[in-house]
Amino acid sequence: MSNCLFCRIAAGKVPAYKVYENDRVSAFLDINPFAVGHVLIIPRTHVSRIEDLSVLDAEALFKALHRLVKPIRMGVGADTALIGVNDGPGSSQEVPHVHIHVIPRSPGDGGSIIQSAIHVRKLHSEKMNVIADKIRRELSLSVNP
Ligand code: 5GP
Ligand code: ZN
Repeated sequence: MSNCLFCRIAAGKVPAYKVYENDRVSAFLDINPFAVGHVLIIPRTHVSRIEDLSVLDAEALFKALHRLVKPIRMGVGADTALIGVNDGPGSSQEVPHVHIHVIPRSPGDGGSIIQSAIHVRKLHSEKMNVIADKIRRELSLSVNP
């Protein structure tokens, strides 16, 4: 998409500190890092939601994550990483082009867990069963891409 920032980065039209590229994905440093070595991994093809990725791009994204996570950590001397996706505007997604955040973490860095984004109290088993049933039903109704 010609007016999309991340499409333009993938196409080399906007400069970025790229760390990895192949025919399906691109990875580069976040311009406003939450930790040193904060990397974004994107599909080269524009989609805004995970569910809209082609299966091939979904596989390529996770493969790139698998390939990159250790070199990212080692490159900045971090012990672990927080890996996350804001999927849609309601989740505070700022750039509407799918991207995986890889944020290196180390003990004492003052950061928090990914679940701190939102939290509900513990639910009763009855409610848990209803929720699981609803999701399984939606899954059975949806097309396997
Ligand atoms: P989101 O909130 O959409 O999950 O995250 C978007 C990320 O893109 C933010 O962490 C932000 O710092 C990063 N970002 C925004 N504009 C640019 C840019 O021009 N270049 C790079 N490398 N990252 C950007
Ligand atoms: Zn795009």
